[in-house]
Amino acid sequence: LQHSVRVDLAERGYDIEIGEGVLEGIVDFVQQRHAVSHVAVITDSNVDGLYADAVADRFSDADIETHVLVIDPGESSKDPEVAHDLWQTMIEEGCDRQTMVLAVGGGVVGDLAGFVAATFARGLTFFQAPTTLLAQVDSSVGGKVGVNLEGAKNMVGAFWQPAGVLIDVATLTTLPDREYRAGLAEVVKYGVIMDEPFFAYLEAQADAINGRDSAVLAEIVRRCCRLKADVVEADEREESGRRAILNYGHTFCHALEAATNYTRLLHGEGVAIGMLCASRLAERLGRIGADVTSRQHALLEKLGLPLTAPADLDPDELVRLMWRDKKVSAGKLNFILPSRLGEVELVADPPVGDVRDSLGLGG
Ligand code: ADP
Ligand code: ZN
Repeated sequence: LQHSVRVDLAERGYDIEIGEGVLEGIVDFVQQRHAVSHVAVITDSNVDGLYADAVADRFSDADIETHVLVIDPGESSKDPEVAHDLWQTMIEEGCDRQTMVLAVGGGVVGDLAGFVAATFARGLTFFQAPTTLLAQVDSSVGGKVGVNLEGAKNMVGAFWQPAGVLIDVATLTTLPDREYRAGLAEVVKYGVIMDEPFFAYLEAQADAINGRDSAVLAEIVRRCCRLKADVVEADEREESGRRAILNYGHTFCHALEAATNYTRLLHGEGVAIGMLCASRLAERLGRIGADVTSRQHALLEKLGLPLTAPADLDPDELVRLMWRDKKVSAGKLNFILPSRLGEVELVADPPVGDVRDSLGLGG
């Protein structure tokens, strides 16, 4: 069973093909969209042996010159120096304006490879085969690529849309349990911010999701890509503000990540905790009833996600970290808060005491 999502953008759109085992058809998928003569596959050392090497072989077998460039796994590879190493290697491998860049891996590989594609020789055609749930439902739509600077995530980058995205949900079978569950947090987010029936579907399918049922996963990834595409189509360059709804749970999450030095929580784990904080904040402000929070709590719990901020964190420090981000949005601290399940609204500068109490850390 195969699904297709069309992302319609102002300049040009692209297709996301989703299914079990679709990576077998990657050469056709690319050739239908691009006259490919030379491929630079970018991957990390975990995904290389699992999937990227086999993907590269398929291009070689089709008589297309192919190189595999392998980076170290992990966020620390989203670094200008790693990008520089890749540019250099690409020159040594004879890459030029005709080279197509194919990212095979998670969000780190996608963001970095996309950045290298956007910049090498003033921009190369870029395809993506995301292999983590997070990358499949989040980074494969939106075109944001980039690297981190010291203390400033995604500070150097571009909008660089792929020419096509091929999502093989079979790759999720090898994903470590924590990474898989972290991806599910962003899945739940889509239901809360814009699709109550999808949220109910996730509740009904929780056992199948925990069992990594591939048909259910293909449907989930399709739905999330469609929802994100709807948002991105309406606000391609993050100008109208519509895209901000995707930040539900993220103001709290970013503070939790910073307070734990980006080491103790995976991003999706921070999102799960952050969504519950945001929902409690909406409750405190009288915007929703307790049922909206308890349904999220129950679903996230069923999916094995953390539900509370690490107890040793200082709520005042977290509040300070959140308000430090203020400068980026014209002096206001904006929160995306649910107005009901399936709908969110932007709330600027809620009382700091309510934000603090929503952390659930007491004190
Ligand atoms: P994310 O997609 O969550 O941003 P990464 O790109 O850092 O994260 O990937 C998370 C980890 O999972 C990395 O160590 C990566 O090598 C590994 N990984 C990615 N895809 C798979 C897969 N399909 N099977 C097993 N491990 C994978
Ligand atoms: Zn996120």
